[in-house]
Order: sequence, then structure tokens, then C-alpha cells
Amino acid sequence: AFDVLVVGGGPAGASSAIYAARKGIRTGVVAERFGGQVLDTMSIENFISVPHTEGPKLAAALEEHVKEYDVDIMNLQRAVKLVPAKGENGLHEVEFESGARLKSKTVVLATGARWREMNVPGEQEYRNKGVAYCPHCDGPLYKGKRVAVIGGGNSGVEAAIDLAGVVAHVTLVEFMTELRADAVLQKKLRSLPNVDIITHAQSTEVNGDGNKVNGLTYKDRDTDEIKRLDLEGIFVQIGLVPNTEWLRESGLELSGRGEIVTDAHGMTSIPGVFAAGDVTTVPYKQIVIAVGEGARAALGAFDYLIRH
Ligand code: FAD
Repeated sequence: AFDVLVVGGGPAGASSAIYAARKGIRTGVVAERFGGQVLDTMSIENFISVPHTEGPKLAAALEEHVKEYDVDIMNLQRAVKLVPAKGENGLHEVEFESGARLKSKTVVLATGARWREMNVPGEQEYRNKGVAYCPHCDGPLYKGKRVAVIGGGNSGVEAAIDLAGVVAHVTLVEFMTELRADAVLQKKLRSLPNVDIITHAQSTEVNGDGNKVNGLTYKDRDTDEIKRLDLEGIFVQIGLVPNTEWLRESGLELSGRGEIVTDAHGMTSIPGVFAAGDVTTVPYKQIVIAVGEGARAALGAFDYLIRH
């Protein structure tokens, strides 16, 4: 059995594995896709002390760093069930799609999250070529350009306010007749001179020239008219979904949005089970935050081990 079994191989999982292994305890890391969301991006400019890198490069560096230590890395394994330990000194068990099972004294859950997509033509083709999901990450790339933000909830309106300070013009596009964001955010948004708001509009297509985005087509749901916005960027802000479906039967406490609730040491509602990164309730989903959280969860697990 492992002392620490990390489930997830993104920035949070890699950091947890390194921090655990450095304590000389038996550490394993299992991931469906080592690297995580980092693999889906090209330009990364906010991982502190690394002014510029690319997703696949950072993912490879994370794996290399983990390999410096005595860690069992199991890639391409999808966890399907967590069976919590019975009793104080029991072992937790994680089951995989392949049928494999692993036992461990402590577990760090770091299965991350995924952005909800619009599912319209052009979205995949122009991903990272004008279609973006993270304003903190990609906002500065659109300096002086025109962008749309899809979604009028808190994250969409926050993104629009944030981007309005960086880009030339923002159009916020909401499907329903009204924005759902907090009133104070809506008030702030409406006070900005370079923002238009379009409600009751269904985005139907991402337009581009073959290389990059040049427009967004939407249907005016009042009139059924098809309209087009000329722009260079589209930020999709219709939700971040935590990868916790597989934990639903474990009894682990999840927030209303399905995120794992943790305490100040990264421990979940199940003693000996920790969590880190985008899969948790931690606000501001970023690589630098996931890395810090991963370290915290591993140190929390080590602390737990020396007391049990
Ligand atoms: P993830 O990176 O999501 O990793 C989760 C890991 O768990 C993966 O290895 C996955 O395969 C694995 N996993 C999931 N489910 C299972 C399962 N059931 N069984 C086994 N393994 C599983 N942040 C920045 O700071 N700067 C940026 O420039 C930036 N750009 C981004 C661009 C894009 C397009 C996207 C999508 C995100 C971007 N982010 C950026 C956000 C950043 O990537 C995330 O905050 C960070 O990757 C979170 O790390 P994590 O380890 O918590 O989760």
C-alpha cells in the first residue's frame, strides 16, 4: 500500500507527489492524462519566475520534476470510485476503469476541472486561436482588440469588467433575457464606456479566416434574426465543471457546484483524504495556485500520517 496516493497529474497532482516523495514516504500518482489542462493551452505567461512557456513544455517539465523522485507514476488510468477506509487505521481504496485497485493510507484528490464549452461550429477549430476560456491567462493577448464574453453570470460579468480594462471593446452575450450576475457587478459593467451588452442571444458559430477568429454569429432570440459581431477574441464563461462525478458515492462533502470542500490543511470531510487544485472550492483557478495547493495537501497528508 502507498502512504500517499495522488489521483490527478496536473500542476496540483505533480506538486503533491513531489512534496510527498521528499518526505521519504511511499508515493504514487495516477492520472488519466499527465499534465492536465496545461496540455490544452499554448502560451503561459503567469507562472511566476517563468516569464513565458508553452502548455506542452510545462506539462513535460512537471513530469520530469516528478521523475526526479522515487514516485510510481501510472498514466492513462481513469479513477472511477473512492472507497474510504473503514476505521481509523484502515486503508483507502481507489478503483480504476481498467479494473485495477490501489490502496493507500492517505489520498490526495487532484482531478481538476474542465471549462464548459458552447458546442458550436468553429469553437474547437479556433481554440487558442481566438477562442479562450481564461481571462486572467489570455486577456493581455487581446490588448487593443475587440472581444466578446459569452455568459452573463458572475464569472462572465467579472471577465467582461476585467477585459474592458485591457482590450479595446467588449460585447457581453447572454442567452437569457437578463444577466444573472450580482447587482453590484452589473452596475459596474454598465458604467464602463467600452462595453455593450446583448441579452436573449444564442451564439451559433465562431467565425474565422482559417487561422484565427474574426467574428461571432448569434441568433437574436426576440426576432430569430441571425446577426454577426466582428471581433478578434471570444471568451467563453459558461461554467467550470469539477471532475468529481466519480466521487459522488464516496460520501465526500462537495459544494453545490460539485467542488471538494477542504480545510486549512487541504483535508476533505473524510479523514486522511486530501484535495488540491481546480477540483476544490479554492477560488481563482490558476496553475500557480494549484501548485501551492498541491504542496499544502501533501504536507497535510504527511502531518496526518505522523499522527496516525
Ligand atoms: P488539471 O490541470 O485539470 O489536472 C487534472 C488531472 O487529473 C489531469 O491529469 C487529469 O487527467 C486527471 N484526472 C481527471 N479526472 C481523473 C480521473 N477520474 N482519474 C484519474 N485522473 C483524472 N492557468 C494559469 O495559471 N495560466 C494560464 O495561462 C492558463 N491557461 C489556461 C488555458 C486553458 C485553455 C485552460 C483550459 C486552462 C488554463 N489555465 C491557466 C488554468 C490551469 O490550467 C488550471 O488552473 C490548472 O491546470 C489546474 O491544475 P489541477 O492540477 O488542479 O487540475
